Amino acid sequence: MPILKENKHLYPKDWNEIAKRKKENVNWRCENCQIKHGIVGTRDEKMNFREEPEMEHLSIENLKTINAWLNTRYMKVILTVAHLDHDPTNNEDWNLKALCQLCHNRHDRKHRNLTMHLNKYRQQHKLFPQYEQQIFSKLQ
Ligand SMILES: [Zn+2]
Repeated sequence: MPILKENKHLYPKDWNEIAKRKKENVNWRCENCQIKHGIVGTRDEKMNFREEPEMEHLSIENLKTINAWLNTRYMKVILTVAHLDHDPTNNEDWNLKALCQLCHNRHDRKHRNLTMHLNKYRQQHKLFPQYEQQIFSKLQ
């Protein structure tokens, strides 16, 4: 996931170096599915990746243009670094994992859904803070 503008201040100033070091330490491969950073291809309906090595030199912008023209879904695998506990201020090595977009998205989805439901619930019921905490701890 790209870092959201409203969360950017939570990341340390040297986040780019921390993230780069993490990716180098795992040889630029997703720690979950082992896919390599920078390769280009498409995913089928089961999310299996079909590599197109002859397209690897193309930029993401070029791929977007090709996709728009040809109605294709070529993508470049970009390695990102996830916070396992979803806390961008916790940059201990054990809390960081280099993941491709797909794995990062799957990792974040559960947390995103829970947060969304909780926020909706808070708005609907205007709970007292002590109950919100109890509910949130049960959802995690
Ligand atoms: Zn992956």
